[in-house]
Amino acid sequence: YRVYDDFMSDGHHAYMTLGGGLRKAIDEEQFELYYQPKIRLSDELTVGAEALIRWNHPELGMIPPDHFIPIAEESGLILPLGEWVIRRACRQLKEWRELGYAQFSVSVNLSSRQFMQPNLVEMVRSVLEETGVDPKYLELELTESMLMADANQTIEKLYAFREMGLSLSIDDFGTGYSSLAYLKKFPIQTLKIDRSFVQDLGVDADDDAIVKATIAMANSLNLKVIAEGVESLQQKDALVGYECEEVQGYLYSRPMSSHDFSSYLTEQSYNAPRLVANI
Ligand code: C2E
Ligand code: MG
Ligand code: MG
Repeated sequence: YRVYDDFMSDGHHAYMTLGGGLRKAIDEEQFELYYQPKIRLSDELTVGAEALIRWNHPELGMIPPDHFIPIAEESGLILPLGEWVIRRACRQLKEWRELGYAQFSVSVNLSSRQFMQPNLVEMVRSVLEETGVDPKYLELELTESMLMADANQTIEKLYAFREMGLSLSIDDFGTGYSSLAYLKKFPIQTLKIDRSFVQDLGVDADDDAIVKATIAMANSLNLKVIAEGVESLQQKDALVGYECEEVQGYLYSRPMSSHDFSSYLTEQSYNAPRLVANI
């Protein structure tokens, strides 16, 4: 990425420069969703994708989400931006379906402020209706801190999403409270093991122990488990040994533009054994 100059690492300056451009960027749709495949380890099929936002800034080039999502959160612009992400992902799903690709689910990341938005459930429902996407193909990625914030409202929202047919996953699992109580209490289907634990698999015995225990726990609670940030065969082999179901990472693919993801899907369906699974 061509990101930014040293002077911008000063938080305030970054806020002024990026923050000032965000509103305009939303109006002008300077954003783009990239897609990273999720691979099922048992057969190495692509079974889903995660949508990851990018900002094509007219002067600064491609800006990664870590640099502007916090600013969007702070300014409240995350609400229109988050809605754009969900709509864009659903339109993309519809487009892939119309092009005849095997259907798979796409997950989108929610931020805390967006999750607290009172009309979130209605917004998601209306985007699904508008785009005609079957809710079972949309997954929401939440973080541990969101789930801890306001337990009652949280439970209501999560159940409302489940009733609509969406699936829910906990992103970056292991980096927050990692409360076992909420795994029981909340209707979650998937845990995503944070890449900081995956990184040192086979190198740091503690990380192996944490990953192994998390997978075993998820499996016995009937939760799907996916490891993110898988970059090496060694990491993948360790995960296979621990009975991890799915992985995501540079070993298989970096996040791609929708155009490249479409080519990837075409290629996958011609090159056995990594066919796209029709799920
Ligand atoms: P995340 O949801 O945990 O997404 C995974 C991040 O890890 C992505 O970074 C992805 O490109 C990166 N990644 C995937 N595989 C590998 C790997 O093998 N090695 C390494 N080193 N990295 C890998 P990205 O796209 O820069 O996104 C960073 C974070 O920004 C995301 O973390 C998510 O929290 C947030 N984000 C991205 N898109 C959105 C969005 O549409 N809305 C919101 N609210 N947040 C978003
Ligand atoms: Mg995520
Ligand atoms: Mg993550």
